[in-house]
Amino acid sequence: MNIHEYQAKELLAKFGVAVPKGIPAMSVEEAVAAAKQLPGPLYVVKAQIHAGGRGKGKFKELGPDAKGGVRLAKSLAEVEAHAREMLGNTLVTVQTGEAGKQVNRLYITDGVDIGKEFYLALLVDRATSRIAVVASTEGGMNIEDVAHETPEKIHTVTIDPATGLMPHHGRVVAKALGLSGDLARQAQAILAGLYAAFLGTDAEQIEINPLAVCPTPEGNKLYVLDAKVGFDGNAMFRHKDLLELRDTTEEDPAELEASEFDLAYIKLDGNIGCMVNGAGLAMATMDIIKLNGEFPANFLDVGGGASKEKVTAAFKIILKDPAVKGILVNIFGGIMKCDIIADGIVAAAKEVNLSVPLVVRLEGTNVQQGKDILANSGLPIVPANDLGDAAKKIVAEVRAVA
Ligand code: GDP
Ligand code: MG
Repeated sequence: MNIHEYQAKELLAKFGVAVPKGIPAMSVEEAVAAAKQLPGPLYVVKAQIHAGGRGKGKFKELGPDAKGGVRLAKSLAEVEAHAREMLGNTLVTVQTGEAGKQVNRLYITDGVDIGKEFYLALLVDRATSRIAVVASTEGGMNIEDVAHETPEKIHTVTIDPATGLMPHHGRVVAKALGLSGDLARQAQAILAGLYAAFLGTDAEQIEINPLAVCPTPEGNKLYVLDAKVGFDGNAMFRHKDLLELRDTTEEDPAELEASEFDLAYIKLDGNIGCMVNGAGLAMATMDIIKLNGEFPANFLDVGGGASKEKVTAAFKIILKDPAVKGILVNIFGGIMKCDIIADGIVAAAKEVNLSVPLVVRLEGTNVQQGKDILANSGLPIVPANDLGDAAKKIVAEVRAVA
């Protein structure tokens, strides 16, 4: 689960991380009111969408010369003008895809002067099973480009969970950023706050880009200017307070609908819709479709104990995707019996007026009853005997249609 920049910064501030003062706004009036509470005279008006690259992004409705989704304002009037241009319009960035995202929320922050920009991120490193800290002096840029072109400028430190974050980790990170003295101490304090936030919220990712050195009357200050925070969805049950930060308008509608039925659904680029029970079987099904030369349109795990209603919902979600040219149902009836699945498939297929070929492979408890239900349904369902047979059949069906 991802959250907005303003929510991420408010959260990190609670863990002692230094962020510039800022206030979210849902309307032009709120944006002006927010700016009035900030010291000024420089403000930043920031579009809040679940995607990065906002600064260099373009608004669909505003033409190529208009400014992007992160704008400096030197007066309340400028804050108002920017808010008016941004709210309700569609921001397209390298991360949103062509469709872009509608801006419904803004974050008005104190505009600070920037001396230098760094990159600092914490994430779960699957190779070492540890939290990794990634630091680079090349902040404010697309980190994938830095990793590609100048990999030596990216420093990674992994943290042993047995010791947790140690002072030496902070020193290594400060050194990687070329900081010494007071700024190094500030970097260590920020890292400690980020690490505590990461553990305390079951985060999957905390990305600060940029972390900036900002000259102030009290000397140089290190501030988190942009923050992207994502949590482990499987741990959200123990963070009810964080669940309130969820903005479902930012999520893929099909994935959102699937989550309401407790289905694990991920949209992919292919043309064969898959309905499978169990993540392992779902992966195997996707693999064998690819082995036969086509691509899955989705990952969908209906789970071990899915009901008829769940199967029906899954079916409808798959069929809503216009890219789907055929569906492969591959279910092992263990806890969930094959006849129940068959009932669900027949009910859903009738309800949605099935318009694409459907291949079904059932195995397990009550398999014969399940097969009989499908055969007697009057629907053009193609039965398959095993996984290999099923994959061949759906690929043939999809190609015959094309
Ligand atoms: P992103 O484009 O979605 O990554 O949005 P960011 O929040 O990272 O903002 C993009 C860029 O705007 C940053 O890299 C900074 O250079 C600039 N920026 C953001 N906040 C401030 C600020 O308070 N003052 C100044 N001068 N620049 C800022
Ligand atoms: Mg950024």
